[in-house]
Amino acid sequence: MFLAGTIVASFLTVCVRRLPRGKSVVSPRSHCPECGTTLGPLELVPVLSYLLLRGRCRHCGKKISISYPAMEVGVGLIFLLIVVGRGATVWTLNYLVLASLVVVAAGIDLNHGVIPDRLTLPWMAVGVAAGALGGLREVTMRIVGLFACGGLVFLIALLSRGGMGGGDVKLMALVGSFLGPWGGLASFMVACFIGAAVGIGLIVAGLKKRKDEIPFGPFIAAGAIIVCISGTWVLRLVFPWLGQAGF
Ligand SMILES: [Zn+2]
Repeated sequence: MFLAGTIVASFLTVCVRRLPRGKSVVSPRSHCPECGTTLGPLELVPVLSYLLLRGRCRHCGKKISISYPAMEVGVGLIFLLIVVGRGATVWTLNYLVLASLVVVAAGIDLNHGVIPDRLTLPWMAVGVAAGALGGLREVTMRIVGLFACGGLVFLIALLSRGGMGGGDVKLMALVGSFLGPWGGLASFMVACFIGAAVGIGLIVAGLKKRKDEIPFGPFIAAGAIIVCISGTWVLRLVFPWLGQAGF
């Protein structure tokens, strides 16, 4: 699973670099961003190529960004943890797809401050449709999740005036369409905890001021990935009565 994750990560990196520019994610083939040379199969092996080439392009000698191997190791670990946490079932595929999508959204949000509709909107339909594996009830829950999670962030965006944007609304709706209302809510709560901790940390460290905007997409992504790995325990932590209700 780790290896599968590193291979998927190579494709996700291509998506992060090309989707915001409106380019195709399948052609042209991967090339060095500095000299444009198309990369051969031996230069496309996740992590190993970077190590063997000592972080430099074989053709022009320019440095390759550390973000490539970091992304490969990161997604590899996420894939591994999801399968360890959830077992190898057909639902796990659901979590792997969602984790991949939010990783791309986080990468684009960090680099460009936007989350493209091309990434979120079509995949909401996929998330709802994939619920068919669990029957009509699961499909219904996912539609509820889509609107409840999107609606929640939409309300917060309206009230906070600028803290969160339309991209965050659609990203949260995407999470709801895959995890349903409870998984979506749990993801959002984890996202807020991590966001608050990182925000306070950055202010205390003097790296950001109170009024600086920090993109929220990466926190939604982190929340969704943590719920994909470990389930909705955060709901029972915050609302203990849910445990008695059988959640
Ligand atoms: Zn090069």
